[in-house]
Amino acid sequence: MINERMYALGSQPNPIRVQFAYGLQRKAEIGEENVYDLSIGNPSIPAPPAVRERIEELLEEPAQSLHAYSMAAGLMSARQSVADNLRKRFGIQATAANVYFTAGATAALYITTAAITHPGDEVIVNAPYFTEYKVMIESAQCTCVEVPMRASDFQLDIDALRDAINPKTAAIVINSPNNPVGCIYTQQNIEELAAMLTQKEEELGHPIYLISDEPYREITYGKEVPFTANFYRDTIVCYSWAKSLSLPGERIGYIYVSDNIPNAAEVSAAVGGAGRALGFICAPVLFQRVVETCIDLPTDVEAYARNRKLLTDIMDDLGYEYIQPDGAFYLWVKALEDDSQAFCDKAKSHDLLLVNSDCFGVPGWARAGYCVSAETIKNSRKAWEALKRDYE
Ligand code: PLP
Repeated sequence: MINERMYALGSQPNPIRVQFAYGLQRKAEIGEENVYDLSIGNPSIPAPPAVRERIEELLEEPAQSLHAYSMAAGLMSARQSVADNLRKRFGIQATAANVYFTAGATAALYITTAAITHPGDEVIVNAPYFTEYKVMIESAQCTCVEVPMRASDFQLDIDALRDAINPKTAAIVINSPNNPVGCIYTQQNIEELAAMLTQKEEELGHPIYLISDEPYREITYGKEVPFTANFYRDTIVCYSWAKSLSLPGERIGYIYVSDNIPNAAEVSAAVGGAGRALGFICAPVLFQRVVETCIDLPTDVEAYARNRKLLTDIMDDLGYEYIQPDGAFYLWVKALEDDSQAFCDKAKSHDLLLVNSDCFGVPGWARAGYCVSAETIKNSRKAWEALKRDYE
């Protein structure tokens, strides 16, 4: 008999992907330029030319070694390259032993959650939160506990988090720059979180891990992103080059187990074990080799910054309420009715594809991704206008 939970997950896919699939179909029907697909986080900026050059260079190597398995955790040289990058940028004591290569942030998050929880534990997320966290936490047979971010400024609500922690709490997941809101947690906010968690760890007598999901670390518009592992001892970072190098389809990322964790070697071993148990070993080797040498390339955020301005200008002109994003490439727009799905359905009738906020754990908003061409954003104005008119 098939597994009912898996059936439910498969027959009701992630709403982001539902919209994305509809967008592809709709574009085939009425032409690409007539669909304003702001649903998925596929970077519109191409990968830097150095990535292609490196791939071409690698293709000259003997196929049998180029395409061979790496060690489960990745190539030693690639892991060392990540450690060097983190050491240079954030002054931490990383070595290759702290790094485990993964197929994107998704695998990193699943491995990490499995490595540090037991069935029946609780893992806290900050709402709105990336849709797949709940699936990941429940896959580890844990309970996903949603704590709203502070409504006034979309920072972590330290008091609410403190109240949510209990003896079953194993971890808290944070994501900054944030999908879907675009907020960046300030250093002060992270310091307050760290102080609270440290106190709670002492009180409870067990670690509370901070899972720091950072695929948008480099996509910012002027604000600093504090490196969480420098502020809280028990931090595990999940990273992906999907956004920073525009390589989402190549499935490449890593887990960094902070060396400050008292039993870091054991946590790393559990990460290795979870990778093995879940089948996430030996991340795509060609791309381990690519990122090994391309890791220090700067991320070009200019096009996203321009798109952000184009979209927020449309919002301002038409009187939509939204949260000004400091990072990532999504705009969190207030729906014009309480029912976010109904709002997104109306948008869809104008070929404007948004994602309802319910799947991020919050009612009454919608997510508009501006990682598309500037043309798409400019042309979407008429759809936003028509949508507004529907409510007048
Ligand atoms: N975490 C967040 C916050 C994301 O937005 C995404 C993808 O959009 C992921 C994780 C998954 O990243 P990846 O494609 O590297 O698995």
